[in-house]
Amino acid sequence: LYGKARRNSEGLDFSDRSLLLKLSAHMTRIAEKGWRGGPLVAGAMRTDQAQAVVSPSDRQRQTGKITWAGEGDVKTALQAADAAWPDWEATPAERRAEILEAVADFYERHQTELMSLCVEEAGKSLRDAHAEVREAVDFCRYYAAQARRLFSRSAVLPGPTGERNELSLHGRGTFLCISPWNFPLAIFTGQVTAALAAGNAVLAKPAEQTSLVAIRAVALMHQAGIPTEVLHCLPGPGGEIGPLLVGDPRVSGVAFTGSNETARLINQGLAQREGPIVPLIAETGGINAMIVDSTALHEQVVMDIVRSAFLSAGQRCSALRLLCVQADIVKPLLKMLKGAMDSLVVGDPHWLVTDVGPVIDAEALERLEAHHQTMEEHGRVLHRAPLGGDCERGLFMAPTLYRLESIEELVAEVFGPMLHVVTWRSGELDALVDRINAQGYGLTLGIHSRINAHADAVTRRARVGNAYVNRDMVGAVVGTQPFGGEGLSGTGFKAGGPHYLLKFATERVVTVNT
Ligand code: GLU
Repeated sequence: LYGKARRNSEGLDFSDRSLLLKLSAHMTRIAEKGWRGGPLVAGAMRTDQAQAVVSPSDRQRQTGKITWAGEGDVKTALQAADAAWPDWEATPAERRAEILEAVADFYERHQTELMSLCVEEAGKSLRDAHAEVREAVDFCRYYAAQARRLFSRSAVLPGPTGERNELSLHGRGTFLCISPWNFPLAIFTGQVTAALAAGNAVLAKPAEQTSLVAIRAVALMHQAGIPTEVLHCLPGPGGEIGPLLVGDPRVSGVAFTGSNETARLINQGLAQREGPIVPLIAETGGINAMIVDSTALHEQVVMDIVRSAFLSAGQRCSALRLLCVQADIVKPLLKMLKGAMDSLVVGDPHWLVTDVGPVIDAEALERLEAHHQTMEEHGRVLHRAPLGGDCERGLFMAPTLYRLESIEELVAEVFGPMLHVVTWRSGELDALVDRINAQGYGLTLGIHSRINAHADAVTRRARVGNAYVNRDMVGAVVGTQPFGGEGLSGTGFKAGGPHYLLKFATERVVTVNT
């Protein structure tokens, strides 16, 4: 059920000079020529009425041009997908799996180009962009393997003599995949390939901020053998094309990663439309905590805090937001943490040395600055990391540490490189976990302790999807740490896990009187 040991993608060797040259050639090409993207419907891309896409790391630089999908594109895509999915569903799972593996190979062949797009369009650091492509490749191969396991044959069930009962899994129809900008290639690919693996046609609606990379990915999927009628890409503002898609009874399910508010809107839209009641797979945010007790190893804790809270500019759903430190060690630990923050390189994501790149857009920066201002007014700022010299040109936020009186003060997810510290005292551990649970989210949680009983007690008590003991709490690996939360953090099943494809499928039983 959980698969044999699999090898995930190996990625690239950054000490290889020719690789760096290739990367820089792609970056230059993007900078000079720019990318074009638009609705990719039934294999044809429309690029009229384009608008500029600007890089978050340098607002003067144009990454490319994008054309939004309109009502006509949505209509054509829905019709084509609806007509094409029965054939795709009838394609043997083995064949679908082979095509998804071909997608993985195509991604690997185009690795530097995809990385460059992630750096340019999403402001991902080179290292994050690298991890992004690897994760996308892993999703393709993992869901291919799961498609073989689940969809290749029916299960023969026990029954009375003279009767044969067979249970089989099938695609549901057309899936709508709405993906976020923070993993513009990995989550996008994960949703789409899961839906395809299960035998569905797909309408992919990427985040507005990162549509170019998504369109490129879809073009590669088509080249790898996914029929153009089966997979369509509809870039555009969610508020406009979202309702057209969600409201159509031909949409047989929705996979969504993003905010809680949007997940609720989608749920409402699905509930109010005509047609069948269909699944919504939502992966939303979290107010993720890390608990550190007085036995924890300071050097390791600090490294893991920095990775979890500040890398990727804190723009991961899994990122650490709330650091809960046992009062006895808070002084020396924070001293070390401040030192580590000062050594972070914040700036141009094109450089290999950069730790923290820009945030995604001006609105995100505004929201984070407003949060900072409120914290400042309340005298809560403990430390800010320095910004690099090249930061004025882009949308950068300095990694910042805040002190809170209680965990309840943090009422919403702050999606950036901002960490909030609270202290707790010996004897309060269970109560602390209960208070974290009471916030209602349930995505990731970290515990650092050299007392096994503490770690066990916390992981047993915490209502979270992914708990990490004595390590950082980001970067879940496909097939190894299936990822996703509970409560306000999502519906499950977990991405990159053995049950995910089930949510994209419907079950049928055939009973034969023999
Ligand atoms: N899977 C990612 C991680 O483990 C986070 C995904 C997200 O931000 O949605 O860090």
